[in-house]
Amino acid sequence: MAIDLHLHSTASDGTDTPADVMRAAADAGLDTVALTDHDTTAGWAEAAAAAREVGVVLVPGAEISCRWNGVGVHMLSYLHDPDHPALVAELSRTRDDRLTRARRMVSHIGSDYDLLWEHVLEHVGDDATVGRPHIADAMVARGLVASRDEAFATVLHNTSRYYRPHHSPEAALVVRAIRDAGGVPVMAHPRAGRRGRLVPDRAISRLAAVGLGGLEVDHRDHDPADREALRGMARELGLVVTGSSDYHGTGKLNRLGEFTTSPEALAAIVEQGTGTEVVRP
Ligand code: AMP
Ligand code: FE
Ligand code: FE
Ligand code: ZN
Repeated sequence: MAIDLHLHSTASDGTDTPADVMRAAADAGLDTVALTDHDTTAGWAEAAAAAREVGVVLVPGAEISCRWNGVGVHMLSYLHDPDHPALVAELSRTRDDRLTRARRMVSHIGSDYDLLWEHVLEHVGDDATVGRPHIADAMVARGLVASRDEAFATVLHNTSRYYRPHHSPEAALVVRAIRDAGGVPVMAHPRAGRRGRLVPDRAISRLAAVGLGGLEVDHRDHDPADREALRGMARELGLVVTGSSDYHGTGKLNRLGEFTTSPEALAAIVEQGTGTEVVRP
């Protein structure tokens, strides 16, 4: 059983359409995958149809931007009701502000580089959540940088003069909203330090007290010591442990199935998730 619970499509900053992600998952020999686009469920319907066709089990999900004391947190949500009003309102506010923020960043970058908002829009899918990777793609297409990675190491880095933050709700509020919507909140890559500041361990125990269900432990941005520490915390707090690729198509080096989740952990998530159905072939 190969289970990978963190995949992105063109509904956010992945480079494969939701249907292509499902086909690629089947080709990679995965049995069960979750589509977890940033701050949206827009890819679910297309992914579900393709998953049935190619014989992959689909766990509908999302990766919700939030913050803890000013530190950015990514909260994976599995099997929540996509029409739950509070969650819908939070995600739509975040997406709106991501758009404003991306336009602002591009206007700043445009004063030093040959880049316009129209160039970036060519790389954003219909209804997609806009992010820095789309700005990177436009810069690559215009020959301003060689890759997404180079763009993130320079103009798009959190410490760059062009960087702007976007709105995101408090993590505790998001955890509660996901549970209210019948979903299962799992903190994504809690020790991915390259992306900026990390949340303290105390954040994980506080969030566990308000309904956090799991920790993404096995992820390429964690070294072995981080994984051991996170596994220990999960054991102490009774949290489910997941592992996943964080696949973004050609936008990142992450390969489908490079880290996986145990069948027992998947069963615990499916048991707790009541907001929508798992899609089975
Ligand atoms: P944003 O959500 O707009 O703040 O942009 C962050 C997103 O950019 C994350 O979801 C990552 O998937 C992606 N990202 C971060 N660093 C890199 C990198 N070095 N190469 C490619 N994508 C990256
Ligand atoms: Fe991403
Ligand atoms: Fe993430
Ligand atoms: Zn992700």
